Amino acid sequence: MEITDIPTEGYERVVRCRDSASGLHAIISVHSTLLGPSLGGLRMWPYQSENDALYDVLRLSKGMSYKSAVAYTGLGGGKAVIIGEPAKIKSEGLYLAMGRFIDSLEGRYITAEDVNTTIADLEIIRRVTKHVTGLSEDTGGSGNPSPYTAYGVFLGIRAAVGWKFGTDELSGRSVAIQGVGAVGSGLCRRLVQDGAKVTVADRNEQRVQDMVEELGVTAVPESEILSQDVDVLAPCALGAIINDDTIPTLRCKILAGATNNPLKEPRHGEALVDYDILYAPDYVINSGGIINVSTELMPGGFDKEASLARIERIPKALRELWTIARDENIAPNIASNRLAENILAEARASKSH
Ligand code: NAD
Repeated sequence: MEITDIPTEGYERVVRCRDSASGLHAIISVHSTLLGPSLGGLRMWPYQSENDALYDVLRLSKGMSYKSAVAYTGLGGGKAVIIGEPAKIKSEGLYLAMGRFIDSLEGRYITAEDVNTTIADLEIIRRVTKHVTGLSEDTGGSGNPSPYTAYGVFLGIRAAVGWKFGTDELSGRSVAIQGVGAVGSGLCRRLVQDGAKVTVADRNEQRVQDMVEELGVTAVPESEILSQDVDVLAPCALGAIINDDTIPTLRCKILAGATNNPLKEPRHGEALVDYDILYAPDYVINSGGIINVSTELMPGGFDKEASLARIERIPKALRELWTIARDENIAPNIASNRLAENILAEARASKSH
């Protein structure tokens, strides 16, 4: 196994691993451990080149630093990628090699699930390193993060309604949810319970049917969900849906959902301001999952109550960034980055003293 550093400005440590025995070709990026050990998922993807993989792992690890900072998880930001086509390269030997690679960083990077990585894969990694989170509840882990993400998004929507309309009462408010999968369905249940009028769409007809039958919500075709005339639009499906084509068709007053990277480009955050739509930045409102995972690392191990209490701080983080956005006349997506950078700068200053 050959492990080499890739010196990268602005990043604490970036390392590459090549292991001919298992075929592993992977990169771990530790963006920052200022606030604690860096945590981020392990992604497997058929990148065209190592440079493409490097670009992705750098971008994602920095994003994790920002997300963890604003969520006060006591963690830093990191990410790992394995280069290759999952169907061709997945093997026990590959994950054992990845585990040894993770272990070589001596806890500065802690791994978790991500695209093309399952809990079963993490359990193999766990055999050779303890720096793994997100295992199943019966093995002492925090289990499925989706209900916690849904809870955080729900609280974030309430905070956004309060900020926009002066009261966070959801009864009678209208919400459109794009995608009622793991997070969207949990969110839908909580909103209906609080008296909101919910409209849903999903590419998967069965999921729509289930929500209509269980909760009596209204269903609309996939092509109509983004342009619903509602108080809140909650995207809980795929990214980049807020773009030059869709912005002029939006009729919501708030955009607040679980989707990662809903804005195609940062400038689309500014366009939302022009349309007087309040945006709850993705990595703040959807941080319930990472907050839940982070509680596994607390001294006593995973604790559901502690996790929920931490998730209940999401509204405060949102109000802080909306305040920065208002006072500095910048878009909320820019303000959330500023909030994260301020938290990291304070940690840097207090360390250097
Ligand atoms: P999921 O796959 O369980 O659900 C997504 C749903 O969206 C599916 O039912 C799918 O059929 C539907 N869908 C896809 N394209 C659609 C379209 N164009 N219109 C309508 N529906 C569409 O995924 P999830 O875990 O619920 O995650 C949803 C989003 O939240 C993703 O962007 C994910 O990255 C983000 N997120 C999830 C978590 C988590 O804890 N699961 C945490 C943070 C962020």
